[in-house]
Amino acid sequence: MPRDREKYNAWMRANRHRYAEAERARRRTDRYRAHERGRAVERRAEQRRKLLDFLGGRCQRCGIADERLLQFHHANGGGNQHRREAATAPGGKGTSYRYYAELLAWARERPGSVELLCANCHILAEWELEHGREDIA
Ligand SMILES: [Zn+2]
Repeated sequence: MPRDREKYNAWMRANRHRYAEAERARRRTDRYRAHERGRAVERRAEQRRKLLDFLGGRCQRCGIADERLLQFHHANGGGNQHRREAATAPGGKGTSYRYYAELLAWARERPGSVELLCANCHILAEWELEHGREDIA
């Protein structure tokens, strides 16, 4: 493979099929896949961080700030469907960086529509959405 840019481009055009085959082989390697997984993990964490910052970084009901417990609650429901629609990363499901990016844009456009809640408060919030708010003593 020539170093000079123009020669490289000419070489690429002349050897397009060989190059494509080499590229496909490279993408099948464990090393490449691990690299891509690592990037996806980083980008996901970055997007989640932006969302946490935007929503105040602590549970909006009880105030706990342990990020391992914090979840994003759709105040009017529909969170599961929203995630399924937005999270269709290649081969992915669940909370990809695409979902977090989409959710951040969505939350910015609709103040109050996404609440940052801890896992316990989130369970209660979902229960209240389904059954109405009740005091259980
Ligand atoms: Zn809470």
